[in-house]
Amino acid sequence: MVHGHKGVRFQNWARTYGCCPEMYYQPTSVEEVREVLALARQQNKKVKVVGGGHSPSDIACTDGFMIHMGKMNRVLQVDKEKKQVTVEAGILLTDLHPQLDKHGLALSNLGAVSDVTAGGVIGSGTHNTGIKHGILATQVVALTLMTADGAILECSESSNAEVFQAARVHLGCLGVILTITLQCVPQFHLQETSFPSTLKEVLDNLDSHLKKSEYFRFLWFPHSENVSIIYQDHTNKPPSSSASWFWDYAVGFYLLEFLLWTSTFLPCLVGWINRFFFWLLFTRKKESSNLSHKIFTYECRFKQHVQDWAEKTKEALLELKAMLEAHPKVVAHYPVEVRFTRGDDILLSPCFQRDSCYMNIIMYRPYGKDVPRLDYWLAYETIMKKFGGRPHWAKAHNCTRKDFEKMYPAFPKFCAIREKLDPTGMFLNSYLEKVFY
Ligand SMILES: Cc1cc2nc3c(=O)[nH]c(=O)nc-3n(C[C@H](O)[C@H](O)[C@H](O)COP(=O)(O)OP(=O)(O)OC[C@H]3O[C@@H](n4cnc5c(N)ncnc54)[C@H](O)[C@@H]3O)c2cc1C
Repeated sequence: MVHGHKGVRFQNWARTYGCCPEMYYQPTSVEEVREVLALARQQNKKVKVVGGGHSPSDIACTDGFMIHMGKMNRVLQVDKEKKQVTVEAGILLTDLHPQLDKHGLALSNLGAVSDVTAGGVIGSGTHNTGIKHGILATQVVALTLMTADGAILECSESSNAEVFQAARVHLGCLGVILTITLQCVPQFHLQETSFPSTLKEVLDNLDSHLKKSEYFRFLWFPHSENVSIIYQDHTNKPPSSSASWFWDYAVGFYLLEFLLWTSTFLPCLVGWINRFFFWLLFTRKKESSNLSHKIFTYECRFKQHVQDWAEKTKEALLELKAMLEAHPKVVAHYPVEVRFTRGDDILLSPCFQRDSCYMNIIMYRPYGKDVPRLDYWLAYETIMKKFGGRPHWAKAHNCTRKDFEKMYPAFPKFCAIREKLDPTGMFLNSYLEKVFY
């Protein structure tokens, strides 16, 4: 018999959203998940499944029943021939990597952090960079889904194919993802090289950068022309690191946090901070190499607000820059991170049927203090919409059903599948109601 807890408060990683679910469950088996759903049906409650709680929006919040998947976190099977691994959806990627290492396998691409679950990263459309690589959900070859009525659907290209096309980016609204089979690649090492450049140079030579490096991305420092280019590529070199406690922590975190806090009283300092930190930390060529998952991910120390939309690079970035120049009172923390992703056929993937560029903007919360960001956010969203952008599902945005109907050709198809699998809307919360109603 599954036991629930009352009075648990949930907060996302960035502490930007939280909620007090009526009941909080940590099931350890499929049967216990089924019991929670049966209780929810009897009592007419909403259900929200939560993974690592890293989504910067309220997508994982609920006042109803919360199912935390942390105890359903086993590796179930490793098929060395096909290089596929089947995991329970609650596994943190941080726990999956060493298991894959043992078998000489790796995931071909990862987001910036690994304290996130397999179920969460695919459900929110988590991505990294690499124009030959899709979002993380494109690595899924099969999954099992428990729907609102307690039934289990096995989904893949050959079984429940339509649900599979929807459920890889599921937003947590189709049911409980129980297991996921991921296509892996042989274990590999990456070399990361970062070097300074300018916005003009990188935008004029995007194709050449994309050809030169398998996992190319760049950071733009708003209120300046400065750019840091980052290449990550396969290597046979032994692990090496350019990390330094003094530069990475003392300067790159403690000093930066203090100066950003100071700038909450004197916003005109932000442009100077961006230029000063570029000069301090990003004007030197840096190299490091290691196992792929150690290079893809990094320790993210700052609590922050973020926005991240997928769409056209050059026009959107130049318009964002022009907006900041025309409105000196709108300040923007560094960096704006620009990443590239291959198109796919997943119904609600921001890269549905097109190769995409993601532009991630950020406003830190120094010592937990919120910094005014609404003008920046609004201008950014307006520009992204104008260029046909689609917001990252995990991140707070102001779009509603009307917007998504325009953005996603397959939106009606996804809605039909969702309504069939969850006719009473058991898996909706207020974030998802804005998407679907
Ligand atoms: C520091 C930091 C760095 C980040 N870097 C990146 C990045 O590089 N690229 C990027 O794209 N994103 C990035 N993100 C966003 C992050 O990858 C996503 O928010 C991801 O969803 C987090 O996974 P999670 O396990 O924490 O999911 P949660 O936030 O817990 O959940 C996300 C959604 O999935 C649903 N869900 C989770 N598990 C299940 C399940 N088993 N069954 C059904 N529904 C489920 C939830 O209901 C919710 O709707 C970052 C976030 C942070 C805080």
